Formats: sequence, C-alpha cells, structure tokens
Amino acid sequence: MLVSAKEMLDKAKAGKYAIGHININNLEWAKAVLLTAQECNSPVILGVSEGAGKYMGGYKTVVGMVNGLLDELKITVPVALHLDHGSYEGAIECLEKGFSSVMFDGSKYPIEENIEKTKDIIRRAKELGCSVEAEVGAIGGEEDGVTGNGEVADPQECKMIADLGVDMLAAGIGNIHGVYPPNWKGLNLDVLADIQKLTGTMPLVLHGGTGIPDDMVKEAISLGVSKINVNTECQIVFAEATRKYIEEGKDHEKKGYDPRKLLKPGFEAIKEKVKEKMILFGSVDKA
Ligand SMILES: [Zn+2]
Repeated sequence: MLVSAKEMLDKAKAGKYAIGHININNLEWAKAVLLTAQECNSPVILGVSEGAGKYMGGYKTVVGMVNGLLDELKITVPVALHLDHGSYEGAIECLEKGFSSVMFDGSKYPIEENIEKTKDIIRRAKELGCSVEAEVGAIGGEEDGVTGNGEVADPQECKMIADLGVDMLAAGIGNIHGVYPPNWKGLNLDVLADIQKLTGTMPLVLHGGTGIPDDMVKEAISLGVSKINVNTECQIVFAEATRKYIEEGKDHEKKGYDPRKLLKPGFEAIKEKVKEKMILFGSVDKA
C-alpha cells in the first residue's frame, strides 16, 4: 500500500540520512526502482512529473500500475507515489486519483499567492492522509534552452512556507535540474544552514541531484536535506546501456529485438544507479 512520505522523511531527518526520490517514466522504471528499494530494504519515493504522468497515459494509470506492482512483486518497504513539480490543478487531480504525496510548485507565483495556494493543497492533502512538498526559490536548469544558475531561496520565505504545515520543503540553493554546466558554482551550503536553522525539524528537499559531487551531497544531508531527487542520472544510464546493446548488434541475435530483452540492460542500469544512490544517501536498511 502506498504511504504518505511524511513518516519516512521525519525519520530520515532525525536519523541524518536522506530518502531517494526517483522519477519514473514507464513500467521498467517503476519496477526497477521498487525491486531495488526492496532489495536494499530502503523506503523510496516514486516521483512522477506532470509530463511523465501524461506520457504513461494519465495519473490513474500510474496509480494502477504502481499499486499493482506493490502487490504482485510483494513490496513491503514504505513507498510514496509523489507528484513532482505539480501545478495547482495537477496536485488536486493527483490527490483525487490516489497519489500519496504531491509537490505543489508555486515558486513562479508571488509569495502571497504561493502561500494561499499551498494552504489549499495542504488542506486537501491532510484530509486524505497525503503529504505535501512546497518550493521556495525556483530551481534552475535547462528551460527554454537556457541553463541558468539556480536561484537561492530566502530563508525567511522558507520559514513562512514551512510554518503553513507542509511536510517537506524544497529550497533553491544553487541546484539545477539536468546536467550541471562546467562553470557551476556548487551548492550554497551557507544558505542551506540558515534555512535549516529557521525551519528546525522540517525535512528539506534537494532537487537536481545529478552531478552534485558525493561529498557535497553528504554535507547537504548533514545540514538537514532528507529527500534527494534523482531523475537525469537514471535516464542517462538507461540510454547508455540501451545504446550499447544495439551498437553491439544484440538486437539482431536470436530474438534480441524482443522488448523484454532490448530493455533489460537499461533496466539493470537503473537498478544499479538507484542502489548506488540509496547507499550514498544512507537509506539502506531504514525501511
Ligand atoms: Zn525538481
């Protein structure tokens, strides 16, 4: 059964480790992440962006697929199904359709409007026992073809949003989505420390986990980050493994074109990457 992300994140915050939020794109992704979490005895958050939700056929399909996998693969570790960077309308729809957690990304609104909308999402989520993530300070990345340095959140604004009753808070600290440019300045850990001071026990979320050096990730965890979003890295290893399979002509050997064979190396690559992250984040055996 899907669970809210609240309990696993509160435990992670108290225990100074982080839970991996792994974005899923299809059946192979969902299955790879769930099996790895079970093997590692680690809680996990399955992230679904609005685009990925649409790609998979809609939120109801995602909920049905994930619930089916939990049951038939006998997954017993805590699993949350979480809308990633949800719009106001998207968050409401996911709550209605059976997600156990949503992010409402109100970072594009003025702070007053972000607060009003966040409050409404919290009220709806609480009624259903679901968790809510809010964002302060837009997280940079490749949007409209421009790779910007991530914004740095105002710690006071973080406190304001945290006090509304969200269960986890994403704060921009110079992190960006996608692959980091060579001239990236690194995470602003001083601001993270300030945010942590003001928000106390609130689990903090680090988006854009791909390419942040491991020691910086560990430092961020020690400063209160309890959820780390991983998306691009799994996509890259999946694509590389699939490319290798085809370039080696394996799809031409026997029935190598069978999707169950063709997608297997990518599937295994995702599993390996997720395991590596769970070890790095310290969530192994924390289920
Ligand atoms: Zn993000």
